[in-house]
Amino acid sequence: MQLSERIKRVKGSSTVAFNTKAKELARTGVNVVAMTAGEPDFQPPEHVLEAARQGIESGLTKYTPGEGTVELREAVCAKFERENGLSYKPDQIIVSTGGKQVLYNAFMAILNPGDEVVLMAPYWVSYPAQVELAGGKTVTVATHPKDGFVPELDAIREAVTAKTKVIVLNSPSNPTGAVYPPGLVKDIVEMAAERDIWIFADDLYEHLVYEGEFTPAARYAQDKTLIIHGASKAYALTGWRIGYGAGPRDLIKAMNRLQSHSTSGANSLAQHAVTVALNEVEKTRAFIELTKKAYVERRDTLVVGLNKLGLTAPTPQGAFYVMADLTAIHKDETEAALVLLEKAHVGVVPGTDFDAPGQARFSYATSLENIEEALERIGALLDSNVS
Ligand SMILES: *Cc1c(COP(=O)(O)O)cnc(C)c1O
Repeated sequence: MQLSERIKRVKGSSTVAFNTKAKELARTGVNVVAMTAGEPDFQPPEHVLEAARQGIESGLTKYTPGEGTVELREAVCAKFERENGLSYKPDQIIVSTGGKQVLYNAFMAILNPGDEVVLMAPYWVSYPAQVELAGGKTVTVATHPKDGFVPELDAIREAVTAKTKVIVLNSPSNPTGAVYPPGLVKDIVEMAAERDIWIFADDLYEHLVYEGEFTPAARYAQDKTLIIHGASKAYALTGWRIGYGAGPRDLIKAMNRLQSHSTSGANSLAQHAVTVALNEVEKTRAFIELTKKAYVERRDTLVVGLNKLGLTAPTPQGAFYVMADLTAIHKDETEAALVLLEKAHVGVVPGTDFDAPGQARFSYATSLENIEEALERIGALLDSNVS
């Protein structure tokens, strides 16, 4: 079959291949502790579920405006004002089918062939694929465990060329959990603004910061920043597919043009429920605080445990992932992850697709019991001297 050159250039995710392997193993009756998930394991807040039920009763069955309902876009504006001190009008907001689609719309709307996008590695796997699909070119800046995966300004400056169109910031980060200090965010954004470079601030994990603080990049150059945000991680609503973007009108309008011809906009019921999640501030905050407390306890158990076992990992300050060094098991991270899966029955995502050689991502969006069990199994594996 003759597929398009475009799609031929995008490689399938080895992450998915790996998850499939873990599931296959589980299907044969093996009890696998999966630490692969990129999604919260919590039930969403009850008031948000109730809003969706009410949405069905009140007949929210029609198309919404392509850019999202006015109610949701107003709620998003109120959120930015209240939590970040940022002022947006509803026509600077787009609601999409997940934060992922906000990003895709944006790369498609802004990149010309040969335009460069700077990413901090290890990065989220969809960035390079989306940049490629949009005709752009990825330039990576390496970050290191010894720095907690926080990049250096000079390294970013060196990666910038005359062709740089966008720098993607993702703090807290998936897959590293790094939270960038406020001063660094400011410096990066100002350096970019001087060169007329866009900042795409992937802020999906804003609410999951355990030490330090979340710094909105838009604070320093609102007219050159696109915020990518959404309901998936903060409210445990990954499957409802609601993301939102905030940025300059012209960019949002262009993104919406693309969206109007691709999805026509996000799901009506889910938009209604997320409006309630944003507007019922106290209830939603209580939910987030509860989940944060659980994540911190899990993180601490996991990080301490991994380091004790010689799988060194810095303590991430946000999100729900730990990047750990697997070279004590095997120098190739995919081999190491396979050993973990097949011999210890612990599922992790090898760093290959994140551009994290020798490492793997452990998700702690799973119970404390599972984390303890995984550590025990890995310990037993290392004791039996696999390598
Ligand atoms: C989860 C995630 C997203 C977006 O997820 P959606 O479910 O599409 O909203 C974006 N960026 C990162 C880094 C993520 O981890």
